[in-house]
Amino acid sequence: MKLSVLFDPSFDFFLADGRKGRIFDYSLVRKASVKDIIESLGIPHTEVGSILFDGRKIDFFFVPVLPGKLQVYAVQAPFNVLAPSLLRPAPLKSIRFIADVNVLKLGRLLILLGFDVACSSSFSDAEIADIARAQSRIVLTRDTTLLKRKKIDFARRVRSDFPYEQVLEVVDFFGLQDLTAFFSRCTACNKLLVPVAKNDIIHLLEPKTRQYFFDFLQCPQCQKVFWKGSHYDAMKDTFSRLGISFGGS
Ligand SMILES: [Zn+2]
Repeated sequence: MKLSVLFDPSFDFFLADGRKGRIFDYSLVRKASVKDIIESLGIPHTEVGSILFDGRKIDFFFVPVLPGKLQVYAVQAPFNVLAPSLLRPAPLKSIRFIADVNVLKLGRLLILLGFDVACSSSFSDAEIADIARAQSRIVLTRDTTLLKRKKIDFARRVRSDFPYEQVLEVVDFFGLQDLTAFFSRCTACNKLLVPVAKNDIIHLLEPKTRQYFFDFLQCPQCQKVFWKGSHYDAMKDTFSRLGISFGGS
């Protein structure tokens, strides 16, 4: 007996041509949860927003009895990770990310926008899943296989190859437009910057910076000093051109 399967067009990115936007038959060789069935077809569970079996809403653990019709719908933007849903009954308490090695530039740009992003080029897949679970972080990656790990509940399989497009993608997907706090974190350490008196760090400044700038922030971890100079203006312009607004700046 067969299962009829239909994925909504948002999943075309992951599907083989013959399965895009059309009903196809799936042969079940053993009892399996819909989560396992969906992932065996190449879709990470983290991309799924709702599932119907014979027209009834079901969760990931539902085991279909054949014959039947499975309809799978993608998470719709903006994805509110702070609200419970049938597929994710335990929502996150805050919006925090972990960036995989293949999207580190995206991670740094999100930190620049004020978001809490754990970034490291040395995380293994298992470590990313462990950190995501332990610290309630949303995984950002271009590695579809990583997102099939059980410990990862919230994620985005980033589509674009280009970091600035990726930022826009993440901001739009998670509805972050009003949550930015530009220039509030250290892009190296992800720590919140703290105001520092000019006199306390004046020995670290170049002569022109000493002359023209008065307000400074410092990273409590690496001690790096930040000020709103030409780099700040250039980054702000770049984000503005992308249509990303700023809070807290
Ligand atoms: Zn730092």
